[in-house]
Order: sequence, then structure tokens, then C-alpha cells
Amino acid sequence: MSSPYPWPQGRRAALCVTFDFDGESPQLWRQRDEPPQDVAELEQRRYGPRRGVQHVLDTLDAAGIRATFFVPGWIAHTYRSAVQDVHDAGHELALHGWRHEPPAALTAAELRDSLTRASDLLGEIAGRRPAGYRSPSFRMAPAAFEVLADLGVVYDSSLMGDDRPYRIGDLVEVPVDWATDDAVYYRYTGAESRPPAGADALHAAWSAELEGARAAGTLVNLTMHPWLSGRPARIRRLADLIHTARACGDVWIGTVGELAAHHLALGTGVPVTEVPLDTIGWPQ
Ligand SMILES: [Zn+2]
Repeated sequence: MSSPYPWPQGRRAALCVTFDFDGESPQLWRQRDEPPQDVAELEQRRYGPRRGVQHVLDTLDAAGIRATFFVPGWIAHTYRSAVQDVHDAGHELALHGWRHEPPAALTAAELRDSLTRASDLLGEIAGRRPAGYRSPSFRMAPAAFEVLADLGVVYDSSLMGDDRPYRIGDLVEVPVDWATDDAVYYRYTGAESRPPAGADALHAAWSAELEGARAAGTLVNLTMHPWLSGRPARIRRLADLIHTARACGDVWIGTVGELAAHHLALGTGVPVTEVPLDTIGWPQ
């Protein structure tokens, strides 16, 4: 049996609550060459910065936990007061591109420019540069690691190669999982072949992931979107999950930045995965 990962405070497992606060920016990127005439999806997505994020902040405040918000620079520019509210409520702001561009879709210069602009703006809002990054749609590219390190970023949270924090090159990777991403359950814009799942279905899946993590000593890293999970019936179930995790007594709950800092401070002799950056790409 492998040795357990040393979670903060000697806990058995860990829970991070994260939001990709991207509003309409993914659609703006996806349809940049052929802007649609209708505004249906734009308005559906604008629910996030307009209303959803406030429901999210109220819920996190009532639960007494701090979360990590990955925010495209364009969103911080366009909805600055909402992003300021997130920071002022004590949550962590982290990078998510400028207009939700996956790194592989950009040249090296474009990638550096978009992330530098976003880091400058989030740094202005938070009073310090962001320490973390999540690639849009989890589409990470090897070239991004070096740019991020140059910007003082210490962690990425986009990949699924472990179920505990691990190391890719100079960055800590705090892994994600499609199984705990709300978009898989809730994303419905009128064209999908199935209806959106109900809040109980996602809560049941999260609960199973939490049980599994406590049994195996692993991480549950929730990925949510204010335009999806900010709806009242849905965000209530997050409060239920946090209540359950707290009641367990053996689950550490904190931000991704805190977990990355904890990982960086671990001494030698700890069983962690290290992936050299030159092995992350397609085998030559
Ligand atoms: Zn996103």
C-alpha cells in the first residue's frame, strides 16, 4: 500500500472549491470569427458575472470558506466591480487566460502577452500578482509552463495526471477531474442532445468523490462556473457538500493557492509525483 499524502493539518483528504469565472468569454473566443446575431447564449453566460457570482459569494460567506476563482483578464476588465467583490470577500484570484484562449491556440508571443496583461490586471485588483493558473477548458500546453513561471506563477490547476498535488517542471500541479466539473452536468444552451442534470445528481456524484477521497487519501477539486452553479437551487447543494465535508472531521478545506504552497513546503522523502517538463508533451 502506498504511503498517504501528507495533507495540511494532518487531515486524511482535501477539498478545494474553485470557480472558473469566465461568463461569456469562452463564447467570445469560440465564435470570434463569426459573431452570432442572437444573444441567447451571451445572456445565459452573463448571468454569471451579473447574478450568479453574488449567490456564490453569499453561499461561501455563509459556509465560512474561501475559494479560488480563475478569472479571464477580459472578465476582470469588463466586470471589474464583481471581480473586486470576489477579492474583497477574501477569495483567491488566479489566471484563466485573457479571453479564454487555450494556450495551444496562441503563438508564444501571444500567450506571453495575454497572460501578462491578465496578471497585471488581476494584480492591480488583488494588490499582488496571481500565484495560479487554470487553462481554459483544461487545455494545457507545455509552452505555457515557462511563461507562467516567468510571471511568478507557482501552480497550475488544469491537468488530471494524479489525484494529489504533483510537480510538472517548476510548477505545482493541483489536479482537476471532469467528474467534479459542473459543466459536464449543467451546461445546456439549447442545442445539446440531453437536458441538464439536476442539482441532486451532481451532489450525489460529489458525495461519492468525497467518500472515495477519504478512503484513498486524495484530493477533491471542484470546478464550478458562476453562470451554471450560481443558480439558487444549485449553489445550495454546494453548501450541503461543505457541511458534510466539515462534519467528517478529517477533510482539509482550503484554496488551491494554499494547497500549492503546502506542497512546495514539503520536505524530501515525501511520496509525490515529479514530471519533468520535457516529458509532458507527445513522445518523440
Ligand atoms: Zn473557463
